[in-house]
Amino acid sequence: MVWEIAKRASPQNGWGALKNSQKLYNNINSETDPYRVLIETVLSQRTKDENTEKAFKSLFSHYKNVFEISKLKPQDLYDLIKPAGMYKQKSERIINISKILIENYNGTVPDELEELIKLPGVGRKTANIVLYVSFSKEALAVDTHVHRISNRLGWVKTKTPEETEVQLKKIIPSELWGPLNGSMVNFGQKICKPISPKCMECFLNEVCPSKRVYKNKSR
Ligand code: SF4
Repeated sequence: MVWEIAKRASPQNGWGALKNSQKLYNNINSETDPYRVLIETVLSQRTKDENTEKAFKSLFSHYKNVFEISKLKPQDLYDLIKPAGMYKQKSERIINISKILIENYNGTVPDELEELIKLPGVGRKTANIVLYVSFSKEALAVDTHVHRISNRLGWVKTKTPEETEVQLKKIIPSELWGPLNGSMVNFGQKICKPISPKCMECFLNEVCPSKRVYKNKSR
């Protein structure tokens, strides 16, 4: 697991300790179909995992693929994806994405970052998730968890997720780029929370320079 190894890494030696290890935390989504992963990631924006799952299951229990979804009107999706929140905006995005995939890519999902980020509502994070999960490419998806935790651990000193992606790629071996997101999201939801991180029970607290900052706020 990546965190077991990270424990032995310090900000000084960076991720050197991870380099030769095969013990990666494997958070590969059980869903790997590129279209479904893309839509699932769009649904997951600004909501919790359980809400994403409900909306995703509901959507794909009614419509099977990009061809069916591209023919719909946004209103057709409202009730189905409501659990994921922002359902009007997400419905529109999902249908627009589907139309573009059919018009420009013969109904397939492109496997290049530059093409993926041309799709409406698809940023670098979403594109990198699709590239890793569906195409097994070395892609580093930096979301709010990865950005926050990397800064707290002192691995980077950055202001935006985009800067974090650039800096992390310099110090993390490319084979860890994909698994890192899943590990950090999980860790960020349970331990290194945005507010009141649980530093006292964090297994990285011996190597974390932010431990003192949050020590008295830990619950
Ligand atoms: S010690 Fe605290 S701030 Fe540092 S990684 Fe752990 S939970 Fe996050």
